[in-house]
Amino acid sequence: MANKNSLLPRVPVREQDPKVRATNFEEVCYGYDTEEARMEASRCLNCPKPPCREACPVHIRIPDFIEAVLEGDNAEAARIIAEDSSLPSVCGRVCPQESQCEGHCVLGRRGDPVSIGKLERYVGDWRLSHGEQIAPPLGDKQEAVKSTREKHKIAVIGSGPAGLACATDLARMGYGVTVFEALHELGGVLVYGIPEFRLPKRVVSQEIEAVKRLGVEFITDVIVGRTVTIDQLMNDEGYGAVFVASGAGLPKFMGIPGENLNGVLSANEFLTRTNLMKAYDERYDTPIIVGERVVVVGGGNVAMDAVRTAKRLGAKATIVYRRSEAELPARVEEVHHAQEEGIEFRMLTTPIEVLGDEQGWVTGVRCREMTLGEPDASGRRSPIEMPESEFEIPCDVVIMALGTSPNPLLVAQTEGLEPNRHGGLAADEVGATGRRGVFAGGDAVTGSATVILAMGAGRAAAKAIDEYLRSK
Ligand code: FAD
Ligand code: SF4
Repeated sequence: MANKNSLLPRVPVREQDPKVRATNFEEVCYGYDTEEARMEASRCLNCPKPPCREACPVHIRIPDFIEAVLEGDNAEAARIIAEDSSLPSVCGRVCPQESQCEGHCVLGRRGDPVSIGKLERYVGDWRLSHGEQIAPPLGDKQEAVKSTREKHKIAVIGSGPAGLACATDLARMGYGVTVFEALHELGGVLVYGIPEFRLPKRVVSQEIEAVKRLGVEFITDVIVGRTVTIDQLMNDEGYGAVFVASGAGLPKFMGIPGENLNGVLSANEFLTRTNLMKAYDERYDTPIIVGERVVVVGGGNVAMDAVRTAKRLGAKATIVYRRSEAELPARVEEVHHAQEEGIEFRMLTTPIEVLGDEQGWVTGVRCREMTLGEPDASGRRSPIEMPESEFEIPCDVVIMALGTSPNPLLVAQTEGLEPNRHGGLAADEVGATGRRGVFAGGDAVTGSATVILAMGAGRAAAKAIDEYLRSK
């Protein structure tokens, strides 16, 4: 039966003023306070067969945690979420809720769905500010199972969402887990890709601290495949199983003339310099090229992050995308925020050449106008170039945000591992690869996807690793 509050619009979330935030790197969204969270929680119908839970890739007990928020029992809400997710403050901020849980909320059929993401963030942040360690053990009371788990240690390669989720579940089962990370900081794309104004790094490091408190060991500055191989980990160092969660960090380029001019960057490099190496902060000595006019090519989350970062660094920033706004793959909220911040969008446009001066520096991009044809394999209408429609956009920096692919290093040098059609590691739905004892998941398998899908893959692999080791 309809609850009277469910008829109310969703509680709006407070945000930094667009004009102010376009000049700083502080978080855009302030999130709900307790009163707002409880008011929003009161809208939930507590559906007996909740479609929101089905649509969440890790199946968080959404109505139950929302009810706990309504009752003012945040510790219980945090405990419920922790059964299925170790990164609620991250996912509450960056998950594409509009196409997942919120996209299936019953209230969305007639009005605003419940703000599930903002409520998850509220609970996650409450947990972090209260230093709660709530991930319940996934232990088994049987002595035989306990002793198998205590006997084995497992290596996880990569500390992004897939690696963190897998390590969390394995540690909760009682295994000894070591995470090897190539970079000097933990968190994968959460620290080197997604900017501070969308996901503050203190949130990521606090969530990782919670994983550490479960007993997971982290070793940074180790490139598995170079510093140490999977064979050495398994044969010489006694790891019973390995989970490869090395992500998809190789940038793609268009292959158009002029792409090797000075001032053409991949979004990965641009964002890594600003986020991980703090080029935006004058106390750091990290060089970065930001011209007066920046063109970012692409329409996904990465493109939105790059263009909004360029704007904050002082450039006039433009998105160039070959389809129309309806096909933009970025989260609706990010596109909306970018528009509010004064980003220019040149839709139905594709670059055909990067232009430069005699010194080899970018001076602009030559583009062609596009129109949309029939849907292609992705289900989106395919872009078709319009004849005689060329024009130029003057700029000094071009950032390519066209997607990334997995690094082939581990496949190339580990016997039994095979590539798949995404250029990643071939693995089945629970992460098993062609090599016994080696599992893989997240972007390393699927190519660039989402945080929550990577976490779901990490959790599925943890279960499969447990079954594998117990059956040995
Ligand atoms: P990653 O997060 O890439 O982590 C892999 C880790 O493995 C890295 O730390 C890497 O250094 C390490 N590694 C790689 N090779 C080795 C090796 N040989 N040895 C040791 N360590 C290694 N998703 C969303 O859901 N919402 C968003 O809003 C969103 N925005 C994004 C914005 C940007 C700029 C980018 C780049 C991605 C975004 N994504 C978003 C996608 C999301 O971040 C990824 O899908 C997710 O991080 C994948 O997790 P992962 O653990 O598989 O890989
Ligand atoms: Fe609540 Fe919406 Fe989930 Fe129903 S579908 S339980 S209303 S969040």
